[in-house]
Amino acid sequence: MKKTKTKTTAKQPAQKYIFIVGGVMSGVGKGIASSSIATLLQARGHKVTAMKIDPYINVDAGTMNPTVHGETFVLKDGLETDQDMGNYERFLNTDLPNINYMTTGSVYQSVIQKERNLEYNGLCVEVVPDIPLEVIRRIKQAGAEAKADVVQVEVGGTVGEYQNVLFLEAIRMMKSEEPENVAVVMVSYLPVPGSIGEMKTKPTQTAVRTLNNAGVFADMIVCRSPIGVDDKRKEKISKFCNVKVENVISAPDVKNIYEIPLNFEEDKLSLQLTEILNLPMKQAVDLKAWRQFVNSSKVENDVVKIAVVGKYFNSGDFVLSDVYLSVLEAIKFSAYKLKLKPVISYLSAHDFEDKAQLKKLKNYDGILVPGGFGKTGIEGKLNVIEYARKNKVPYFGLCYGMQLAVLEYAQNVAKLKDASTEEINPNAEHLVIGVMAEQKDKIANKEMGGSMRLGQYPANLTKGSVAAKAYKSQSILERHRHRYEVNPEYIPLLEEKGLRFSGKSPDSTLMEIAELPLEDHPFFVGVQFHPELQARPLDPHPLFTAFVKAAYETIK
Ligand code: GLN
Repeated sequence: MKKTKTKTTAKQPAQKYIFIVGGVMSGVGKGIASSSIATLLQARGHKVTAMKIDPYINVDAGTMNPTVHGETFVLKDGLETDQDMGNYERFLNTDLPNINYMTTGSVYQSVIQKERNLEYNGLCVEVVPDIPLEVIRRIKQAGAEAKADVVQVEVGGTVGEYQNVLFLEAIRMMKSEEPENVAVVMVSYLPVPGSIGEMKTKPTQTAVRTLNNAGVFADMIVCRSPIGVDDKRKEKISKFCNVKVENVISAPDVKNIYEIPLNFEEDKLSLQLTEILNLPMKQAVDLKAWRQFVNSSKVENDVVKIAVVGKYFNSGDFVLSDVYLSVLEAIKFSAYKLKLKPVISYLSAHDFEDKAQLKKLKNYDGILVPGGFGKTGIEGKLNVIEYARKNKVPYFGLCYGMQLAVLEYAQNVAKLKDASTEEINPNAEHLVIGVMAEQKDKIANKEMGGSMRLGQYPANLTKGSVAAKAYKSQSILERHRHRYEVNPEYIPLLEEKGLRFSGKSPDSTLMEIAELPLEDHPFFVGVQFHPELQARPLDPHPLFTAFVKAAYETIK
């Protein structure tokens, strides 16, 4: 009898889940620790996807002021998320989909929508278990879509606050269902009070106990502290927190966040996680490219000085750079690639409303105006742009920085006296920057959340332009976040006066890049999109590289 071949399907190894929670206090670098862990598992040959849960009622991060919540990071598919998603993309050198980010608000919104759609079959819909179940559904969907071996989920906030209790409940439910596939890592903080001069473990012990109260037990504790954790304290933490001593990881402060994966490996973090989760041994940790990048950031090279002129820097007595995090990182990656040492200064646009202050800009090799909204600081920005244009200082304008560059040109070169952007002065005679047609009704109906032109769109570049030369390509895909655009009525006049629109949407209706030709200026480029969102340590962004290069070349 002829044997029929039976197809043997090899059993897929189960998907593994790592939850990262924070103990003791916020702001200890949980996101970076999380990104570093994901990087190490990736370096061991696993397919890793990273998720972030933010415990806010805001449905996405787009409606929060950046001085309150840091930069809004837009994913390829258009979701407005938290800056940690940017860290994940940069560390893992990958694009992450919308499903990988959720907030309390978005989870409730889905559950309520399902209830409205009669999807609960007449049952009473309850906070527990229906909210954690929706969280688990999303985690599993993200894992399935990414075909990941490991799904890493960072829970925002600190253990012990009310806000993230339902997410801890989701962890508890998952762990009780498949204990062998779930690991919990607590990123905690160990203070070294000046008055005592000794590292204290008690706050971490208390945080672990609080986590245990939620029915969740840590498998590993990453100890953030000003200095490394010694063996004595590791043993103490191990004993009082029910964690093996090898799973107490030292995470001292570092100057350069990209060194953190390398530091974690000194305590064999990825091997420990491999054991906890019983992950297959795919390969030894391969951090060659990463190490090379880290080394390139340490070499004492020639300095290039870049001024970033923004409006969100000042918060009380503090200067915030988180608001423009991706921009700053993008400058650094390109500088390191060019073997330069970037010195980035954060200048407040407000200061340049007084033109006498513009002389401060003499100290810089390149000027960048990042994205922004509203009236505050725009006079200062316009003055800075005029200075950069006239003095031939390399200028890079991102989104609002592009719109204002076009506006400055309209006012000072095309001599349109009453020119403005509709965002600021809808009654101006010349609305050189106007509201996009699709946005009009949304603004009138106050549909402001998640309704801008968001996410990745293609654009075509003019052959031979500054932009096309930088990209070495005539078609690009970049991420957007805006409501306004260059008003097409003014394009002929602006071009006649020398401005070039070298990047356009495929149907040529939207102006994506404005530039001055090389004969007129060493580098004057404004982009309607946010290239910083796609700049990666191992893959710097070509436009940032062209800008930093031009800045450096003007020094000689
Ligand atoms: N405020 C401008 C707009 O909405 C620019 C936005 C931005 O810089 N992200 O079009």
